[in-house]
Amino acid sequence: MPGSIPPQPSTTHALSGATIAQAITARTFQGVGVSPGRIVASIRQMPKPVDEPPLGERLDAGASQDDAVASLRTAAQAVHDELKGRARTASGDGRAVLEATALMAKDTMLLNSAAKLIKAGSSAERAIWEAGASVAEMLHNLGGYMAERAMDVLDVRARIVAELRGVPAPGIPSAAAPFILVAEDLAPADTATLDPATVLALVTSGGGPQSHTAIIARSLGLPAVVAAHGVDTVADGTEAYVDGAAGYMAALPTVEQRAAAAAWEENSAVLAGFDGNGTTADGHLVPLLANVGGAKDAVAAAALGAQGVGLFRTEFCFLERDTEPSVGEQAAAYKAVFDAFPGKKVVLRTLDAGADKPLPFLTDATEPNPALGVRGYRTDSTTPGVLERQLEAIARADSASGADVWVMAPMISTVAEARRFASLCAAVGLTNPGVMVEVPSAALSAAVVLREVGFASLGTNDLTQYAMAADRQLGPLAELNTPWQPAVLRLVQLTVEGSALEGNNKPVGVCGEAAADPALAVVLTGLGVTTLSMTARSLAAVATVLKTVTLGQAQDLAHLALSAPSAVEAREWVRAKLPVLGELGF
Ligand code: PEP
Ligand code: MG
Repeated sequence: MPGSIPPQPSTTHALSGATIAQAITARTFQGVGVSPGRIVASIRQMPKPVDEPPLGERLDAGASQDDAVASLRTAAQAVHDELKGRARTASGDGRAVLEATALMAKDTMLLNSAAKLIKAGSSAERAIWEAGASVAEMLHNLGGYMAERAMDVLDVRARIVAELRGVPAPGIPSAAAPFILVAEDLAPADTATLDPATVLALVTSGGGPQSHTAIIARSLGLPAVVAAHGVDTVADGTEAYVDGAAGYMAALPTVEQRAAAAAWEENSAVLAGFDGNGTTADGHLVPLLANVGGAKDAVAAAALGAQGVGLFRTEFCFLERDTEPSVGEQAAAYKAVFDAFPGKKVVLRTLDAGADKPLPFLTDATEPNPALGVRGYRTDSTTPGVLERQLEAIARADSASGADVWVMAPMISTVAEARRFASLCAAVGLTNPGVMVEVPSAALSAAVVLREVGFASLGTNDLTQYAMAADRQLGPLAELNTPWQPAVLRLVQLTVEGSALEGNNKPVGVCGEAAADPALAVVLTGLGVTTLSMTARSLAAVATVLKTVTLGQAQDLAHLALSAPSAVEAREWVRAKLPVLGELGF
């Protein structure tokens, strides 16, 4: 057990976790906290998806076909104007997505085909639904950029149907003042238009803690709670308090909760002082790196003080692509990330397609059990050549950049896979191959796997899902699906021990979301991991908490967590020894 903890940063309105816990009432919706932060604001419910108009639905007897066509065109114009208006106030990717969707609402092929169906007797809703399906299919068959527009057509047709029915449009609602977004779950496309200036926090009744929606909430720095059963019953406009660390939303906030939210805002200033260094109180260095999905993230991460990139998820550059990107296109995308970190380490992961990140040119959408299927490195056996071409692109980008490039393969489960990956890297002159340890077999055989490669990076999101046999996306399994599970921590420990065996001495980092939890980051440091990589917005919090313990104390906390009988106790026991967490609201 740790002795005395060194002095912690002072905070203006320090409120302990206990004070807030006492305020929990019947109007509290407990879920799983996935991104810290304390906010008070009104809630907006995400509208339910639009139901398909019944097959064969006809115009009412006696209704005019011309009137039906006219109301369809008016509804389409209203959808266009609404999206265009939102695009004007949005920025970056969100603006581009909104503008592209607005244009689709005026697409002549879409509206003319719907008008034809109305003239043949169909209702306006059914007509636009069917016309949308045919246009989307046609775009999909064209492939490439056009195929990516297919989703926009389907979005637009749902909006037009909602307009015709006079119900709220699907997707993220707009509002005059910033709000807490409450939803069943968010689709990846919803998150593209999620503007942190408008959406202050995210609460979902479904979703799991390791889902990519949770990851995106963290990367945007939004307080977020998932699996909060019953939040969908709270009326639109109700004022609520969200605590993303404690994992709950409370309708009608108390005085204490309002004070906690105010204190959180003030404490942001403490965290703004991050100097880019990851070190314990006694000077043990733990480089803090960023997880990125492309150049934009990399530039933002460098600005937030990341000392490099510990995980570049290359598949994020090509999601929704129907065809394999060319070597030149890939090299340009990779170089743009390397260029954000001249002279610094950038760990690039080869395409991790499959499960919740399907890439149509690599994965089979009909697999019955995609998380256990042909995903990550395994796609090399079913689609040979793609990995070699990606490595060629990486080597090309590496030789044109000043970054210190490391390359690793996802979902490695055997020594033979690690060996083959290393030989493919060597063939294109990439001299520092590594593996992700996210399948328990790799953790259990770390000593022999690490003989083949230069480093390992623990993917605790998948390692947890596979160790606990619990789908990382499922809300009902959230209690199992936490890296605080002592069994998962033991796999981390075994990997670190394996890396030291037989004179290996290979670096073992963590790039799963566990590294972004400041208390768990201390435990991982105590277990001996050499680097921590996380969403850049978590860097300051992790650095602040790490600085309050010595390496010896971190080791004691690691043993404490390993000895706990459950994930809940492991977390509680460790957090009780780190009062700085309560003060900072983590
Ligand atoms: C992980 O599994 O922990 C990981 C970092 O990879 P991803 O979340 O992209 O699957
Ligand atoms: Mg993974």
